[in-house]
Formats: sequence, C-alpha cells, structure tokens
Amino acid sequence: MGTANDSSKDISDRLAEKHPKVVFVLGGPGSGKGTQCEKIVQHFGYTHLSAGDLLRAEKNSGSENGIMIQNMMNEGKIVPSEVTIKLLQKAMLDSGNDKFLIDGFPRNEENRAAFEALTKIEPEFVLYFNCPEKEMERRILNRNQGREDDNIETIRKRFKVFLESSLPVIEYYKGKGKVREIDAAKPVEEVFKEVKDIFNPKVPKVPKDENVEGRCMCCAIL
Ligand code: UDP
Ligand code: MG
Repeated sequence: MGTANDSSKDISDRLAEKHPKVVFVLGGPGSGKGTQCEKIVQHFGYTHLSAGDLLRAEKNSGSENGIMIQNMMNEGKIVPSEVTIKLLQKAMLDSGNDKFLIDGFPRNEENRAAFEALTKIEPEFVLYFNCPEKEMERRILNRNQGREDDNIETIRKRFKVFLESSLPVIEYYKGKGKVREIDAAKPVEEVFKEVKDIFNPKVPKVPKDENVEGRCMCCAIL
C-alpha cells in the first residue's frame, strides 16, 4: 500500500518526466500578474496557474484544509508550502501542457526551496511586475472581484508580507541573473509590449554569408 510520501514522490516523478518549462510571475498584490498572464497565454501558449486561484478553489471545494486556507488568506499569510505545491503539481499534470506561468508563487524563501526540492524544477526566468504601492492599492480597491481579502486592512497586511517575504525571493533569482523586471505602473497594453519582448526576444536578422565577423573563429575559418 502506498503512503502519502509515495504518492507525492510519484506525482513529482511523473511531472519531472515531462521536463516542464516554468516561468514564475511575481509582483505585489494588484501589480497586474493575472491580467498580463491571460495575455501571455493567448500569445505564447502557456498554461496559467495562479497559486491564489488554486487555493481559493481548494477552499471552496470543502477540502479538509479549507478553513485553514480561508483563515490564512484573510490574514494575508502564506499557506504552508506542501499544500500549495501539491495543488500546483496536480494542475500541471492535469493540464497536459509543458509550459507554465506560475503566478503568485513562490511567495517566500521556504516556498521556493520546497518547490525546488520536491519538483527539481528550476524556472526559466522570473517575470517581476514592479509597481508602486499606491497604484497597487488603487487597482485592488477598484477591481471589485468579490474577494474577501480585497479590503484595506488585509491589503496592507499583504503588502507587508510581499516586502518582507516575497522580495527576498526576487533578490535570490536576481543573484542568478533570472529576473526580467517590468515597469508595471503603466497601462495594460504598454506593460504587455514590454512583456512580449521578453517572451519573444528580437534577434537581429543578419543576411546569410555576411556575418563572418559575428561568427566564432571555427566557423569563420570554415
Ligand atoms: N497565497 C498563499 N500562497 C501562494 C499564493 C497565495 O498563501 O502561493 C494566499 C495568500 O494568503 C495571499 C492570497 O492567497 O495573500 C491571495 O493570493 P493571490 O495571488 O490570489 O493575490 P495577489 O496578492 O496576487 O493579489
Ligand atoms: Mg492574482
């Protein structure tokens, strides 16, 4: 009979076999992660997995973790890694795709280390939506998505958690040269222009036979 550990190893192994390509999408609450992810999905064929949305669905499904998730979210606190990672792994396997935008995760160093240890997946890069707090606050208070945590008291707690716990994750990946930072205070379409350039890097076209200087020595000699 399998134990809980066996099954989590099993799901990790099955996922690793697919060699999934992962982009972490990070930024404060209201920085535009969800909006931009939808546009990336349309243009570049990724599957969008919002950790917050997966946790909300888990809470609403009446699972045994439901009350705990609800309490953590209402306080703007970070749900234990193993809960979120299991949901992400299941969603990745169920999708059938091999390219993922993981939005709103990892939210702290523990999330990051646990994800790496369990899945052995390294992100291709981290898309970081940098936005001033005043603008994020304005957007959240205007968006009216019926979220219990979109009230000023919880928003302030979420900002604090972002600064204290999530920014260090971004710093960690900066140290690895993996952060692609976007000025997220601009209007949606302008932000998406920058995003597109990151997913679709413009490679300068060099006419054939005229780029000898640009070649490495062995090619130039040949
Ligand atoms: N959350 C969490 N772990 C995650 C993602 C979300 O614990 O990996 C919880 C946390 O309480 C957070 C809330 O879910 O404040 C809402 O997250 P979401 O990403 O939906 O909102 P955002 O902060 O991006 O607006
Ligand atoms: Mg979101």
